[in-house]
Amino acid sequence: EEIHALNRIKRKIREIKDWPKTGVTFRDVCPLFEDPKAFHDAIDLLRDRYSSYQFDVVAGVEARGFVIGAALAYSLGKGFLPLRKEGKLPGPNLSKAYQLEYGSSTLEVQNFCPRRGLRVVVVDDLLAKGGTLEAACFLIESCGGTVVEASVLVELSSLRGKEVLEVRGWKVFSLLKYD
Ligand code: AMP
Repeated sequence: EEIHALNRIKRKIREIKDWPKTGVTFRDVCPLFEDPKAFHDAIDLLRDRYSSYQFDVVAGVEARGFVIGAALAYSLGKGFLPLRKEGKLPGPNLSKAYQLEYGSSTLEVQNFCPRRGLRVVVVDDLLAKGGTLEAACFLIESCGGTVVEASVLVELSSLRGKEVLEVRGWKVFSLLKYD
């Protein structure tokens, strides 16, 4: 049944060659979000994994990580912590700049309440070179939290982002892998 669910999920991830620039194959998860069955399958598989974990909140990376993260947090009765692009959050914030496959960006987390000992599952749609989740996990630790695991729907294995996180001691889980 898990295999069937993963196949339904996989069928809803669109592949766009040379977007947003030449040489990048974009994996678009928006059709998956739009399909009720595939969306439920994806969230249920993550819920099943994390139902046995001890943690407090799900942190989601703007913007597609919000869709997955909020649904997962709600399904497990946890809180949700948004990691947003620069300039969106009223501060005080912590910021972390990072490099992407196609450009650079900055993530921010609000930093006005104590989070010492907070256990956090970090969620995004996709792991490519790892810079985004590395910045996300860095911000969680910078504001006092502990990263329990970083979790994505899709991992682009050949870009080796998982190693970038694992050398820093952060565990990584992906539902689906592509070369
Ligand atoms: P990275 O920081 O290199 O691991 O890139 C991951 C972030 O960029 C995620 O937030 C993805 O949404 C986005 N991203 C990078 N590469 C792709 C890709 N090939 N297809 C879809 N999203 C991507």
